[in-house]
This record gives sequence, C-alpha cells and structure tokens, in this order.
Amino acid sequence: MPATEIHPTAALHEADRLMTICNACRYCEALCAVFPAMELRRDFSAGDLNYLANLCHGCSACYYDCQYAPPHEFAVNVPVALAELRAETYRHYAWPGAFSGLFVKNGSKVAFAACLSVVAFLIGFVALADPQALFAGHAGPGAFYAIMPHNTMVALFGAVFAFAIAAMAMSLRAFWHDTGGAGAGASANGSLWRAMMDTGTLRNLDGGGAGCMNDDERPTDNRRTWHHFTFYGFLLCLASTSLATLFHYAFGWQAPYGWSNPVVVLGTLGGFGLIIGPAGLLAARRRRDPEIAADGQSAMGIAFLWMLLSTGLTGLLLLVFRTTPAMGLLLAVHLGFVLGLFVSLPYGKFVHGLYRFAALVQYARERYGNS
Ligand code: SF4
Ligand code: SF4
Repeated sequence: MPATEIHPTAALHEADRLMTICNACRYCEALCAVFPAMELRRDFSAGDLNYLANLCHGCSACYYDCQYAPPHEFAVNVPVALAELRAETYRHYAWPGAFSGLFVKNGSKVAFAACLSVVAFLIGFVALADPQALFAGHAGPGAFYAIMPHNTMVALFGAVFAFAIAAMAMSLRAFWHDTGGAGAGASANGSLWRAMMDTGTLRNLDGGGAGCMNDDERPTDNRRTWHHFTFYGFLLCLASTSLATLFHYAFGWQAPYGWSNPVVVLGTLGGFGLIIGPAGLLAARRRRDPEIAADGQSAMGIAFLWMLLSTGLTGLLLLVFRTTPAMGLLLAVHLGFVLGLFVSLPYGKFVHGLYRFAALVQYARERYGNS
C-alpha cells in the first residue's frame, strides 16, 4: 500500500519515509531522544510520527552527520521533515479547530494586528473614561489603577488567560491521547521528573554533546543559550505577576512596587531575559543554513519571538518611566502586548513547549519505565 494511503498529509508521509530509512540505518541513535524512541517501533502511525516530531529539538546534528542527506537520492533531511510535521501538529491539535490556521499561516501579521487592536482598545477605553488620566502623572501605590481599574484589568486578562489555558489543555489532551501517552503506563512521577530535567537543561538541543548546529556544520551552544534566556525570562515574568497578585489580594499591597521589591526584581530579570533570548533567536534564524530551515514554522516562530521581545521591552520601559506622564500610554501599550500574547498562546509557537514536554514525559516512560 502506498504511504500516501496510510498517511493523509505530505508531512506525515515524508516523516514516515525518513523514519523508516533511519530505523534501518540507526547511525544517529546517540544524538537525541528521537532515534531511541524510533527504534522502539517498526511501523509509524500518525500519532507516533507526531510524537517523534515533537520530541525533536531541531539541533540539526543528524542532517550534517547523514550520509543519505541531499544530494544523495534518499534525500534524508530529518530536521526539516520533523519541523514541518511539528507545525502541522500545532494546527491539527488546536482547539477549537476553527482557530487552528489563524496564527500558524499568518503569524506575524495576525499577532501584531491583535496587539495593536488591544492597544487601541485600551487607549480608547481610558480616553473615554477620563481623557486626562492618560497623560497625567501618577505615583504611589495604586497608580496603575488610575488608568484602568484593577477589577476591570483582572476581569479582562483573567477571562482571556482562562480561555487560553482551557484551549491549551484541550489541545494537549488530544495530543497526549493521539500520541500514545495515555496508554504508556500508570504512575508517571519518575518520568515527570526526568522530563522536567530534560526541559530545564534542554538536553536534546545539544546535538549529542557537541552542540547545536545553525549557521553551518560547526556546533555551538548559542541557540541553547538564547532558548534558556527566553524560557527562564518567561518563567520569571510569570513568577513576578503571580507574586504581585498574591500581594494584592492577600496583603492589600498595590502596584507599582519599589525597585527592591521581589515583584520588581523578578520582573526586571524576566524582562531582560525576554529581550536577550528572543533577540538572539531572531538573529540565529537570520543566519540559519537554508538547508535546515523549515518554511512551515517560519512566520509563526518569528511572530512569537517578536511578541515575547515586545512584551519584555514594553514592560521594562513601563518600569523605568512609571513615575512620569508617559506611564499611561506605556501601560496601555504593555497591556496590549501582554493581552495579544495571551490571545495567541494556544494558536502559535508557544504550544511547542507543551507538546515537547508531553513527548519527553512519554519518552521517559517508554525508555525508563516508571522508575
Ligand atoms: S539521519 Fe541519516 S545517518 Fe542518521 S539515522 Fe537517519 S539515515 Fe542514518
Ligand atoms: S533533535 Fe537534532 S539530532 Fe535529533 S532528530 Fe532532531 S535535529 Fe536530528
């Protein structure tokens, strides 16, 4: 039976073809988790291929090591085939399905249109309520809420964030069931811990130890470093926001806070991470060897990086100028980018972190059992 009758899409077909060749060759089995996971299978269902695609971290070591890479007639290019399939999984598992192509196809345009619409909405909202508030100086606890009441802010951001969490949970559930996670075993505590360690260290982005390849066949750890800045920058910003919420509701301490307050320290460090990491990854994309660049993820990845960078930059600008008359406008712009980021989370590159983590948990369960 032709592979196209087994798999309905070209990306699945190509991944199936390459995994079948690699499973006979097995030269790359020490490079990352993909090849040992592949070796546990003789045939590849669509779920298997989606799992393997999201287990791949795109280090590209297997492309430069491959004796069957183009111009060989087998034309084996695993990083590109799995990256194209990953982009397809983001559409395939998106919930609700009607939104699936939104950010994937028109990444940067849709994301920035969303941000600018939100900025315009917020400025309009404040101008309608009190036009003077936008450009007047505000200082001391509660200054931000002269621009937008705290309850309005919480209702707006809470509703969008809750929807994003629900949409991502539904997507992740579908991915987990489809890729075999639900049937992989009972307790997952040990596997969860291994997956967290692999995620926290980005172990699979190290090309088997030599480093990640981007510009050419020479390995470096640059992409891994920029990924770390981005990942931990995001987590620090999340920790800052969570702590501020706790301060507000549990102790009645209102933002903005002083420079030495842990909310500001965490937010400042996170903001720098969200500028340095995405800027490094955007520069790495520009230098990427065209042979290992996948079209399917390009717009989506660039849009996500710019959204993160803009969120970090506008957050730091707000921090520096929060006691000046520019605060109102900067707050509206920053909130616009944060809300735009929330809206795009379930339908853009952000989901790669969720699926990759789920794939790493499943890999740990398959490989090491529940130990
Ligand atoms: S990528 Fe090439 S060298 Fe590596 S396992 Fe596959 S066919 Fe073999
Ligand atoms: S993680 Fe690297 S070595 Fe492994 S399949 Fe992906 S590109 Fe190849």
